[in-house]
Amino acid sequence: PFEYAPAPESRSIVDIKPSYGLFINGDFVEGRGTSFKTISPSTEEVLAEIAEADEADVDVAVRAARRANDRVWSKMPGRERAKYLYRIARIIQERSRELAVLESIDNGKPIKESRDVDIPIVAAHFFYYAGWADKLEYAGRGNDPQPLGVAGQIIPWNFPLLMLAWKIAPALACGNTVVLKPAETTPLTALLFAEICQQADLPPGVVNIITGAGGTGQALVAHPGIDKVAFTGSTEVGKAIARTVAGTSKKVTLELGGKAANIVFDDAPLDQAVEGIVTGIFFNQGHVCCAGSRLLVQESVADELLTKLKRRMSTLRIGDPLDKNTDIGAINSAEQLARIRELSDIGEAEGAGRWSPACDLPATGFWFPPTLFTDVTQAHRIAREEIFGPVLSVLTFRTPAEAVEKANNTPYGLSAGVWTEKGSLILHMANQLRAGVVWANTFNKFDPTSPFGGFKESGYGREGGRHGLEAYLK
Ligand code: NAD
Repeated sequence: PFEYAPAPESRSIVDIKPSYGLFINGDFVEGRGTSFKTISPSTEEVLAEIAEADEADVDVAVRAARRANDRVWSKMPGRERAKYLYRIARIIQERSRELAVLESIDNGKPIKESRDVDIPIVAAHFFYYAGWADKLEYAGRGNDPQPLGVAGQIIPWNFPLLMLAWKIAPALACGNTVVLKPAETTPLTALLFAEICQQADLPPGVVNIITGAGGTGQALVAHPGIDKVAFTGSTEVGKAIARTVAGTSKKVTLELGGKAANIVFDDAPLDQAVEGIVTGIFFNQGHVCCAGSRLLVQESVADELLTKLKRRMSTLRIGDPLDKNTDIGAINSAEQLARIRELSDIGEAEGAGRWSPACDLPATGFWFPPTLFTDVTQAHRIAREEIFGPVLSVLTFRTPAEAVEKANNTPYGLSAGVWTEKGSLILHMANQLRAGVVWANTFNKFDPTSPFGGFKESGYGREGGRHGLEAYLK
């Protein structure tokens, strides 16, 4: 039992309207299709009615983006585009509390994460790419690199505004216009971002936000007026998108799933490693594509590490996302909760040892306790499949070669973590691991200057840094 502190970041600072239309050509317009509800996963309260864009709506949005591209945005000097991006970045900072609270209500993530991680990095992305808008000749693409045109961008629900920033900031900096579709369970911060575009006087049609589920996304990807598709989401949908665009001239980047190994060697400072393991898998309820969902620990320190880890897990506080003391918020949807439960039950049935600290879960909303599986083998489904929840599978190893073999034994290759005091071992492991990001003695660190993206079935293309520009230039 835990006494919750009164929420200082109050619900009252956000203005959630009863219904939202689509943001097309600088205005909110009614959709021609149906609508759906977005709910708060921590209370199951209906937050708003959201327009579901149909093919005709998608067409209107793509045409608006094309006009804005041809007439205004691609012709504007980079330094002028930069001014808009700086303005957006500053408004995001000014409205950061509002954005953080809205994100936590719609997504379920703890306010200390949306306030201290998501929103500051969102602003940082716009500042960073604003800086590139008039320096594109330094991006390795010649003196006068050309934008691709209209980008169709589709994002998931785990970092709604941050994924939007990863997509929109580089696209705009390079002179593209965009039609972006947020995930159906988390549309609200993207719609607030649309208001921010209005506040920044962004020319109409440069950013268009269309809401809806998979069908809307499919219509966007298939639209002939799109020059580029940028997708973050599941590997399954990513493959479907690659099939849809095959044979067209559309450029594609895919950021897909992961099953990262967090590898702890016996010389690692174990208390520090425990913090990294906890951040790796329990940050954002484990709804993180690069989550350290497999712990590989060297056999000689496994018992000691697990004792420390269990003690630390017992201190994690689960509950109201708006409480500043909350460490683990709500699972984003009933469907996601069902998937986490199913895979965890399979883990138990396949013989792994299941452990969670004692914790009271709220009666309404979608919740799952931080969970540890020991005695996991590589054959177990919980060692192979992405659970996308607060569930850690623990495996052991004896030698660096065995750690590499186990870490790479997955169809994914997004990230990995290495914990050791030996610099040479870090470099050796980083070279051997088939992962887009390798963190050393830390985990889940993000910065706009650093490229991010996968190997193998985690996708292709890079977002972030100078590399992120390449995805939006001819
Ligand atoms: P998802 O693939 O189901 O949905 C992602 C987005 O695609 C949503 O906006 C959805 O509406 C849309 N969509 C669904 N079907 C579509 C279709 N046929 N055509 C076009 N769009 C379609 O994934 P999710 O459940 O929202 O997100 C979780 C997944 O995303 C996890 O697998 C996770 O690893 C991955 N992810 C990857 C990264 C990364 O950077 N690699 C980041 C976050 C999440």
